[in-house]
Amino acid sequence: MKIIATVREMQETSEQLRREGKRIGVVPTMGFLHAGHTSLIVKARELSDVVITTIFVNPTQFGPGEDFERYPRDFERDCKKAEEAGSTIIFSPDVREMYPEGFASYVEVEHGSRILEGKFRPTHFRGVTTVVLKLLNITKPHAVVFGQKDAQQAFLIQKMVSDLNVETSVVVAPIVREKDGLALSSRNVYLNGTERERATQLYRSLKFAKEKIQQGERSVDILRAEMKRMLQSAQPTQIDYIAFVRPDLFQEIEHIQPPSVLIALAVRFGGTRLIDNHLVSVSS
Ligand code: AMP
Repeated sequence: MKIIATVREMQETSEQLRREGKRIGVVPTMGFLHAGHTSLIVKARELSDVVITTIFVNPTQFGPGEDFERYPRDFERDCKKAEEAGSTIIFSPDVREMYPEGFASYVEVEHGSRILEGKFRPTHFRGVTTVVLKLLNITKPHAVVFGQKDAQQAFLIQKMVSDLNVETSVVVAPIVREKDGLALSSRNVYLNGTERERATQLYRSLKFAKEKIQQGERSVDILRAEMKRMLQSAQPTQIDYIAFVRPDLFQEIEHIQPPSVLIALAVRFGGTRLIDNHLVSVSS
């Protein structure tokens, strides 16, 4: 497996691969890889001849006081995992390479970026869309794979790619979970034993809402109140939001409607902020 650290070498490598007629798949990550990330690499491998995994802890998507400095990192282990999953290239630039002195251009998707995560992390998505567009221009993929775990991020990237005519296809892969339902996340390592156990309540509350919707409940107020009660029993430090979203437009709704609803939540345990979501089909 090849490790590339400069923009120039990555661009030249991708151009050469394209000249050879190879299909390029890219999986953007911030490293500290787990089975969620490697499932995206496997997916990308199915769709392409060469898989580039990008590992870059992107400072512009962290707000002041967030965990940029202490974000978990283990480059050697990441290389091993990425290779085992089918990655052929790692692109891992440093911060100066991606944001040289004088860097001043940002991309913002104006619709759907100010609710849910955007409300609690106001500069987050601007950083995400900017770095993803840079990574797409650098790696030149035919397909780029993201996880449904970050549903709002996946929506905004699809919107950016479509609005700005970026020539790649965006693929969104399902959430990988622990046996007890907790969605895999690099940030799960921050949880202590009690918090880890209590964090299973996130998925439990999502599944509970799904069952209620399937039984015919259509009131968002009622569903939210019941989910809140369930989550509070896990004694979180804070529930940032429990949101019901129309998936095609990424707009919050007050009444459950067919064909589907995305239920998304963000909950804090101590200093650890966890997000999760569930896409539920709704019958008419
Ligand atoms: P991150 O390293 O957290 O920026 O995540 C990189 C990519 O992995 C994003 O597209 C995430 O949505 C995806 N991802 C993270 N956790 C999971 C998971 N549990 N299942 C599937 N994809 C995931």
